[in-house]
Amino acid sequence: DPSRLTRVDETTWRIEPTGLMRVPGILYADEALIRGMDDKVYEQTANVATLPGIVQGAFVMPDAHWGYGFPIGGVAAFAPEEGGVISAGGVGFDISCGVRSMHTGLTVADIRKAQVPLADALLARIPAGLGSQSGISLSRHDMEAMLHGGAVWAVKEGWGESKDLERIEEGGRMAGADPGCVSARARQRQRREMGTLGSGNHYLEVQAVEEIFDDRVATAFGLAPDAVLVTIHCGSRGLGHQIGTEFLRDMLPAASAAGIRLPDRELACAPIDSPVGQRYLGAMRSAINCALANREILGHFAREVFAAVFPGSTLDLLFDVSHNTCKVETHVVDGQPRRLFVHRKGATRAFGPGHADLPEALRRVGQPVLIGGSMGTGSHVLVGAGSGEERAFSSACHGAGRAMSRHAALRRWQGRAVIDDLRRRGILVRSASLRGVAEEAPGAYKDVDQVVLAAERAGLARRVARLRPLICIKG
Ligand code: 5GP
Ligand code: MN
Ligand code: MN
Repeated sequence: DPSRLTRVDETTWRIEPTGLMRVPGILYADEALIRGMDDKVYEQTANVATLPGIVQGAFVMPDAHWGYGFPIGGVAAFAPEEGGVISAGGVGFDISCGVRSMHTGLTVADIRKAQVPLADALLARIPAGLGSQSGISLSRHDMEAMLHGGAVWAVKEGWGESKDLERIEEGGRMAGADPGCVSARARQRQRREMGTLGSGNHYLEVQAVEEIFDDRVATAFGLAPDAVLVTIHCGSRGLGHQIGTEFLRDMLPAASAAGIRLPDRELACAPIDSPVGQRYLGAMRSAINCALANREILGHFAREVFAAVFPGSTLDLLFDVSHNTCKVETHVVDGQPRRLFVHRKGATRAFGPGHADLPEALRRVGQPVLIGGSMGTGSHVLVGAGSGEERAFSSACHGAGRAMSRHAALRRWQGRAVIDDLRRRGILVRSASLRGVAEEAPGAYKDVDQVVLAAERAGLARRVARLRPLICIKG
């Protein structure tokens, strides 16, 4: 109930620490978004705030909604020297799910001339939907190399370009991956799933720049009105899901052995320095590499399709960033730099201008923050803001966020009608599942414009451009 919250300013709300809470809950959103959040979000935020070693606060982004244990749209950082924990539920099941956007060098007029053949060619090349396969099958040796190498491995294998790598988080390869911590079952599930989009919320979209909010940054990002991008949203597929499932199970006894009182079983976690904590880190980082490789391969498939439909076209990567991770980062807390394990679950890393981890071409302006909206409304490109560092460890929202459950959406919409309606508005949707389209109907999501405006007002990131969908290949 929102009466638990105290309002700090227009877009900042606090849950004061009570009971077992070690830190406050801090929510960033405008009043309407706060009122629209389910009560579960407040409860889950307060629960996260009880975990050992949590630093500063349990943070919530404006797109937040109820999730497994931690809210989706949650950010929490833990200090190892204070008994800090790592939590599989704080990362999410789709480890390193994320978004990449690529420039096409084409305009809306170019796409309109070939919109139907382009949509059909993308649907034919991009494996979408449950159980779809790309034809790539990994040997034991390939699997090991992929889990170690991420997008660097994919490029070596011929699925991508080496100039992509600097525009992928971690240079395309997450260090510290330990494939020895990835179970046989997780590997088995992934053997034939590389280069696949997955189901439901995952998509490949052709998008047009519709509105520019910041000319200087848009120019630095290569975004001009009417320019067309290809954006891919997907993650680590069966492998990440299996790792999440196994470690949630293993973290329950680990938490109890460490004497951690969990207000909710779904918060299962292990001390960072414990054997289970370390094994999860090794496995989770392998799953990050799986996701980075997966998006690089899908980007390569998109390049093949564009080269066929628009001979001579090339796709250049703007950026690739994850929104379900735990990363070791240094952040200034109370004036001191501290090494923290930052969980972002349905939250995007958003480094501001000058951050040393950004490639030279982006360092002066800041990191692109890629935000999905829905297949019918729009999406956004934001840029990390300097103020984001002290607001939420340089994090921002990751989407519009669901406004209703999949179940409720199914009762309200029919897939075929949604597709027909969008076609009349110039948006071609291709999906393996009509049910999936209904679950993902644009009306099932919050208003993305309102969410990113709240993120900007809260100082998490700044708006750069709004994107309008032209083609959506839905998982
Ligand atoms: P999640 O990672 O939580 O599954 O989804 C991230 C965000 O993607 C959602 O909050 C939603 O706003 C957005 N989204 C879901 N489906 C689509 C789609 O088909 N197209 C676009 N542009 N965004 C979508
Ligand atoms: Mn995902
Ligand atoms: Mn996602």
